[in-house]
Amino acid sequence: MFDAVLIEKSDSGQEAGLSRIDTAQLPQGDVLVEVAWSTLNYKDALAITGASPVVRSFSMVPGIDFAGVVAESSHSDFEPGDRVVLNGWGVGERHWGGLAAKARVSGDWLVPLPEGISHRNAMAIGTAGYTAMLCVMALERNGVLPGGGEVVVTGAAGGVGSIATMLLAARGYSVAAVTGRTAETDYLTGLGATIIIDRAEFMQVGRPLAKERWAGAIDVAGGVVLANVLASMRYRGVVAACGLAGGMELPATVAPFILRAVTLVGIDSVMCPKLERLIVWQRLAHEVDMARLEAMTTEVQLGDVIAAAPRFLEGKVRGRILVPIN
Ligand code: NDP
Repeated sequence: MFDAVLIEKSDSGQEAGLSRIDTAQLPQGDVLVEVAWSTLNYKDALAITGASPVVRSFSMVPGIDFAGVVAESSHSDFEPGDRVVLNGWGVGERHWGGLAAKARVSGDWLVPLPEGISHRNAMAIGTAGYTAMLCVMALERNGVLPGGGEVVVTGAAGGVGSIATMLLAARGYSVAAVTGRTAETDYLTGLGATIIIDRAEFMQVGRPLAKERWAGAIDVAGGVVLANVLASMRYRGVVAACGLAGGMELPATVAPFILRAVTLVGIDSVMCPKLERLIVWQRLAHEVDMARLEAMTTEVQLGDVIAAAPRFLEGKVRGRILVPIN
């Protein structure tokens, strides 16, 4: 028996609690992992609170990512003792996830943890950092390079935004951080941002085109914030859009696309092919400044994650929340 967060549904709605689970109750899969560290992401908060229909079947162990050690395997790529990391593939949404001491999953979903990166640091990076790297690579692929103009990051004090700011600055980009929490200015400049902009400047529906400012953008907000980012891109600017912290809608026009040749790149971390994941995790292992990463992490015990989850929806989480498991 082991501890797990379990979300159950009844006629009166869904409820999350800490439960004792038997290994035999775990879903099917060819690899059993002893989870060492997990983490909380925005999507976990949606799942635990039920604020959005993230969970596709009940009962569900949430946790869209984890790092741990293989305990049992009938998959040809893995054997007991291997260090692994998992994010996405519907884990924590359709398949029991990482907020538990054990997880049984498909070996096809696992990535070997690169040398030199601890389980703890892998989860300090987590889905947020992996998504931030997908965004950085999308900018690079589309020709946005250091020295080519400012890159704006929205939701900069959150998980994806903090790591995106850190990764871009470390690669030599000039980073403008948009935040609703200007009290976090020192934190954001510590990550390498050169300008801090109050999110309020992006919250009014503006004109289809505004002054040309950004060569690149990483957006976690969506909604009116993304519309204003698009309107203020430079000619041939590139926007990597990954989130909806500010809303699902997009009150924008086609003007930035047809008059400024702006590119909007969609980023999805969940179904990203394995080959790209391997590259992303190798790059993260080499490019993340682990001291800066440590400065953006806090820890929450497994028994406290249910109480911590609503803070994401209130926009109060700074950086990354780690959950020690084993
Ligand atoms: P966090 O809660 O850590 O960060 C979100 C940040 O967005 C907040 O910290 C806040 O930053 C900003 N924000 C909050 N509310 C609003 C608002 N109303 N309008 C504009 N900005 C707001 O979450 P994560 O970093 O884990 O995730 C960020 C987003 O990216 C989420 O929407 C998540 O679902 C999405 N995501 C998508 C992935 C994908 O595969 N496409 C993978 C991972 C995440 P500040 O206070 O600095 O403004």
